[in-house]
This record gives sequence, structure tokens and C-alpha cells, in this order.
Amino acid sequence: MLTKNNDVLDNRGIELSIILPAYNDAKNVDLLLPLLFTMLAKKQVNCEIILVDDGGKDNLHEVYEKHLNLTPINIEFNLIQFSRNFGKEAALSAGLKESQGKLVAMMDSDGQHPLSVLEEMLEAIQNPAIDMVAAVQETREHENILLKLYKHVFYRFMQDSQRYKLEPHAGDFRVMKRKVVDSLLALPERQRFMKGLYSWVGFKTLYLPFQAQERLEGTSSFNFSGLFELAVIGVTSFSLKPLRWITRMGFLVSVIAILYGLFIIGDTLFFGKDLKGWPTLAVGIMFSAGLQLICLGVIGEYIGRIYDEVKQRPLYIVDKKWNNKKQDQ
Ligand code: UDP
Ligand code: MG
Repeated sequence: MLTKNNDVLDNRGIELSIILPAYNDAKNVDLLLPLLFTMLAKKQVNCEIILVDDGGKDNLHEVYEKHLNLTPINIEFNLIQFSRNFGKEAALSAGLKESQGKLVAMMDSDGQHPLSVLEEMLEAIQNPAIDMVAAVQETREHENILLKLYKHVFYRFMQDSQRYKLEPHAGDFRVMKRKVVDSLLALPERQRFMKGLYSWVGFKTLYLPFQAQERLEGTSSFNFSGLFELAVIGVTSFSLKPLRWITRMGFLVSVIAILYGLFIIGDTLFFGKDLKGWPTLAVGIMFSAGLQLICLGVIGEYIGRIYDEVKQRPLYIVDKKWNNKKQDQ
């Protein structure tokens, strides 16, 4: 596991891995690392920190170098640098793949996830009956009503299977045992909607409510359109509801058309009224054409996902890796 020149506590292997995905968050990582070092130094076990630079424009490597000499003896400190920005889900997957710990924790690198909650989660997972502890974010004050509604609709829409439950507002801030990590890594899909995958793999999960803090520096990378894109990936990867709705809508429109047809026939036969001319026709054609385009769009979304999957491209490309216990790779 560890190299010959390691100076960690002993060679019993890594007990805890902490994964930190970072995109343009170097300043925040700079503030977070000393706190994390202090916390981990107190633990009398081997730990590792895996910092994933998701193609940020700021120089995260400089921050890594700056803290390298201050790294406590029981910490293996890694930096993985992507060749470009691949997104948070890819960064988390890279961290999971690299991790060696018996316990693996993931947290944002922008300071929004309090270390006190991480401690609580690490405490809770000591229970042998629990395999994963996930922090559930209580409503963020700055979120407007539109965003709250959007999230509510999204979670309702996503819940497709009765066999596993998608816990609303439980994100990537969580701690898992090795068997959960291995199960996640065994999933071959490229469209990695992690929040769904955690639920899909199952295992006994404890949900801990927490209040997210304000970002230390900078702004969130997930604006409304970013969230919408993630939501579409989530829905198309986990739910067939939109396709079923298309079928239902088709039936509904057909029934309306038949009833309307009968009404026109009756109106003409029994009341001798003239057939309503082109306005009815025009509205009917436009309505059904619009509906068909929407349906095609939804089907296209699923086909697009299949196309992405069959291309079999890697999830991310690693440019460089650094590790304080091994040579540069
Ligand atoms: N992040 C990332 N790649 C991206 C976007 C974000 O690795 O393409 C990281 C980011 O550095 C942070 C975490 O994911 O550590 C959460 O991102 P952000 O704070 O922008 O989102 P929010 O907190 O609003 O969900
Ligand atoms: Mg954040």
C-alpha cells in the first residue's frame, strides 16, 4: 500500500481518506487545509487527503506545495490534477478511485461543509450497523422560493423506484465504509449522478441534518442552468417517468381528439351546425405538432445519454499526480 520511504505511523494501511474536489477554490483550500491537518493529526491513525484539481484556473498546485511541509506525519497528501474541467461528479469519482482508506469521506473544498459535522459523521460510522453517514442540508437561507420549488419537484420526479429511496437534500458530504466505495466504483456508467448512485447501491445509511455555511470565497459553480443540466442527467439516468408520461399524454390527446370528433359529428347531424373550418384545424395541427416535438425532445434526451455511454470515453483525464510519500508521477 504505502511506499518504502513512508514516514506514517506504521504500515497498517490507511484508515481514513478525505476527498476534496476543487474547481477554482484554491483560496478556500488554503484556508481549509490547516484546519483539516489539525483535525486529522489528533487521530492516531494513518489518513490521506486527496485533493482533486478539476481543471481550475487558479494555481492549486502552489497551495498544495505551500502546505506540503506542514503535513502531519500521519497524513498521506495527494493532489490529482485533471487536464481540464470535468465536473464535480468526475472529480469525486477520481477521488474514490484513488482512495485507499477503510473509511472514505467526501466534502466540498469551499468551506461550506463544517469540520464539526465531519467529526460527527466519523463518530456515527463507528457503529457496526451503519455503512454510510450522509449529511442532509437544511434549507439554505439564501435560496429563493423558485429554487426551493425546483428542488422539490426534482426530488419528486426522481423517485421512480419503490426499492430504494432518494433522500432529498442529501448530497456528497458523506462518509462511507470501503464496501460502499467499492460498490460505487464497480458501477460502469459514465453519466454519474452521484446523489442517485449512493441510494442505488443501498447499504445502511444514517442521515444527519446540518446547516451549510457560507462559502469562504468566490461563488458557486452551479447556477440555475448548471443545476438544470445536472437535474436532466439525474432524471434520465434514474427515471423512466418522462417516457411513460409521453405514452400517457399520447393516450390523453387521442381520447380528446376522439371526443371532439364525436362532438363535431353530433353537432352536425343533430343540430345541423356547420363544420368549424380552418381555425379548428390549424389549432389542432399546431397543438399536436408541438406535442410531438416535446416528445421527440424527451426521447432525444435519452438517446443522447445512450450515445454518451456507448462512446465509452473515460470519465476524466488526469494530467499530473503528486503525493508526499511517493515520487512525482
Ligand atoms: N467543484 C468541482 N468541479 C466543478 C464544480 C465544482 O470540483 O466543476 C467543486 C467545488 O470546488 C466545491 C464543490 O465542488 O468544492 C461544490 O461546488 P460549489 O461550491 O460551486 O457548489 P454548491 O456548494 O453551490 O453546491
Ligand atoms: Mg459550495
